[in-house]
Amino acid sequence: MSDIDIPEDHPRYESLLTRHRIEDGVDKGITSRQGLIAQGRGETFDYLLGERTIPSAAAAERAAAAYLLLAEHPVLSVNGNVAALVPGELVELAEATGADLEVNLFNRTEARMQAIVDHLREHGADEVKGLTADGRIPGLSHERAKVDSDGIGDADVVLVPLEDGDRAEALAAMGKVELVVDLNPMSRSAQSATVPIVDNIVRAVPNITRHARELATASREELQRIVDEFDRDEALAAAEQAIREGGED
Ligand code: ATP
Ligand code: MG
Repeated sequence: MSDIDIPEDHPRYESLLTRHRIEDGVDKGITSRQGLIAQGRGETFDYLLGERTIPSAAAAERAAAAYLLLAEHPVLSVNGNVAALVPGELVELAEATGADLEVNLFNRTEARMQAIVDHLREHGADEVKGLTADGRIPGLSHERAKVDSDGIGDADVVLVPLEDGDRAEALAAMGKVELVVDLNPMSRSAQSATVPIVDNIVRAVPNITRHARELATASREELQRIVDEFDRDEALAAAEQAIREGGED
């Protein structure tokens, strides 16, 4: 990390580190100021979940890995918060699953698009999509509809971390398998996901990568079985219960 000075034995070390990365992202022009608010919202849910990966989220992460490995054309969508928090981890996940990386912003500006592409390249990405923007998601207003036609436009499976509800719903309506990382199980994004992953992005991405590496030699039948056994409604209910009652261990 850059100019960070948090004692490692501080009880909220991870949380403070995460917060600092988002701040840094704003300073670098990667993350929007709106992103600070989204982070605060996420932290609240993470606090209530006990800042851990609950069992239903672990199952969702394994199902997400299986979906990515089964996909013909998987794409990992990257926004300003995700780029600030887990750039290197996303590059590793893309490598482990053969997925493309595509920058996809709610508040799209060319400067921020380019800053995120450069940031991902600094963390080892070779190709990053999103700048061509020659495709459109039906049903969304102009700026928010933009995607690359050979990226998200062509994808069968998309990982959309911290996506806004509208676009998550529009992508689902296009028939894409949507893997959504969102700490709020009640958000429209989580509700419209094929696989809702109710976990902090800083834990979710490395966990999905670990599962993908473990499953690298699994047969298509075994991957399909993992996908079929995952129950999204059960996972959402378990996450909501963990938040409301502190259950699920
Ligand atoms: P809706 O999906 O209901 O339309 P929204 O998308 O408008 O809600 P935002 O606050 O814009 O809500 O989106 C931020 C979402 O991302 C919140 O649900 C928040 O819990 C989640 N979030 C924020 N930080 C993280 C994080 N580090 N890891 C996972 N999820 C996060
Ligand atoms: Mg949302």
